[in-house]
Amino acid sequence: MTTDSDAIAWVQALQARGVRLKAHGKKGLAMVPKSAYGEMSPDERATLKRHKATIVAVVKGGHYAPAAVESMAAKAPPAPCKFCYRAPCIGESHELYDALHPLSEKQQFERRIARWEKDLREMKIRQAYDLPSSTWDL
Ligand SMILES: [Zn+2]
Repeated sequence: MTTDSDAIAWVQALQARGVRLKAHGKKGLAMVPKSAYGEMSPDERATLKRHKATIVAVVKGGHYAPAAVESMAAKAPPAPCKFCYRAPCIGESHELYDALHPLSEKQQFERRIARWEKDLREMKIRQAYDLPSSTWDL
């Protein structure tokens, strides 16, 4: 780990526990609540000792807030659908879905079967009532 990532991880770990950090003077660091100093683990204490200057710089820079970083990532919109260019996709219940999206092989098969069944039903009705074919005889 680099000094920077150690320092940022340290700041994030303390913030995750609800500790607020403030740069104090030139090289000082204030913790709210003050008891947080005593609650640090030996590792955290060592990290603070080793990287104090970097930690103060990180706190001063204010570019450590993990919540802000994560919420930015979470808010990034999902990739748009490659057919309707909407994010998220308009969905199968939308009336333009079929026009914008290609059919899967299963959908093509199901529609072909449905068309044949409809044609067959119509043919049986025509035969029952002795009606001519619906196609033109040229
Ligand atoms: Zn779509």
